[in-house]
Amino acid sequence: MNLTWKQAFLLGGLFLFQKISMEIIPASAQMKQWSRRCKAQGKSIGLVPTMGYLHEGHLSLIRRCRAATDSVVVSIFVNPTQFGPGEDLDRYPRDEEGDLRKCRELGTDAVFMPDASQIYGPNHQTYVEVGPVAEPLCGATRPGHFRGVATVVLKLFNIVLPDRAYFGSKDYQQLQVIKTMVRDFDLDVDVVACQTVREQDGLAMSSRNAYLSPEERNEALCLYKALTRARALFAAGETNGDNYLKAMREIISREPNAEIDYVSLVDPESLQDLEKVDSRALAALAVRVGRTRLIDNMLLE
Ligand code: AMP
Repeated sequence: MNLTWKQAFLLGGLFLFQKISMEIIPASAQMKQWSRRCKAQGKSIGLVPTMGYLHEGHLSLIRRCRAATDSVVVSIFVNPTQFGPGEDLDRYPRDEEGDLRKCRELGTDAVFMPDASQIYGPNHQTYVEVGPVAEPLCGATRPGHFRGVATVVLKLFNIVLPDRAYFGSKDYQQLQVIKTMVRDFDLDVDVVACQTVREQDGLAMSSRNAYLSPEERNEALCLYKALTRARALFAAGETNGDNYLKAMREIISREPNAEIDYVSLVDPESLQDLEKVDSRALAALAVRVGRTRLIDNMLLE
């Protein structure tokens, strides 16, 4: 196709306008109106829920959403109800300007950025309680966490009205909790699971990595090393669950500032402990490196 200078200029301008014309929406009612307008125009809506401080992991979700839906909505909301007492709600990293720039660069149509009062009114009293899938792993060490997650995700679904919603497998249990809620409540949303994006040396990207000192950053690699060891055992045909746990624990215990929250080998659907490994398993762990709690997992199949 041969374009004249004038045509190329106009096309460039249109492209730029689309990038600039991203809507920043602070209020739930306004967000819903925006989504209703999209629906009325026959457009599909994709939602990428985040807590901000966006990194390549988040961006991979946005790209995937951009490729599959007409209207891309990114939500940025640090959800207070999923944090327990003494957790890092108050110091959770934020970078509003950087986040908006990244969203814009990826062609996001709208960023929903409510404050807590938009999501939880003064008389808010209803919460989603998910069953056994929310109980082990992070559910056991962060009581109430998945109740907060499921509640805010249901609210986001009802406000943004997405056809599809994108979640990372890095938070594997969160993904299972949301899939379970969608199934049990007959929600009309396709949950799309996306791969974990890692740093070059294997550390799973996370907004919380920003808390790590250079020394802790090195030690944090023990999560990936432990999971890689589990994968090697699986490839070698190991069937005894205890041997996986011992091997992973041993690798983490080498790091002076790393303290295990949990190291588990579970069924990838039910998330219940596996004593014997057959065809599939999920190795999952949560480790505190200094004051920072990190999670990671690997599907063995
Ligand atoms: P967060 O902002 O940490 O709540 O994460 C928002 C979404 O991004 C969740 O669906 C996460 O699972 C996903 N996510 C976070 N880190 C990664 C990563 N390293 N790779 C892929 N997805 C991720």
